[in-house]
Amino acid sequence: MAVKITDICISCGACIDECPVEAIVDDSDNPTGADIYYVYPDKCVECVDHHGSPACMEACPTEGCIVLGA
Ligand code: SF4
Ligand code: SF4
Repeated sequence: MAVKITDICISCGACIDECPVEAIVDDSDNPTGADIYYVYPDKCVECVDHHGSPACMEACPTEGCIVLGA
């Protein structure tokens, strides 16, 4: 399981440094070519911090942008 960044991503960069396994790449490195950030599903471990949500979801200012279970 992994999280997925959806197309409402505003490429703000808040999530990328929060990922403990460097699963997130920015829009310039997105392998799909989409102009949004991207999570490599084979790297994401769905980390959950003390708030109970993955670190990237906690950091993301865009409600509903990062979704679980991709
Ligand atoms: S859920 Fe955790 S491991 Fe997965 S991309 Fe987000 S910060 Fe990285
Ligand atoms: S924090 Fe959210 S809006 Fe910002 S780059 Fe990451 S996924 Fe996109």
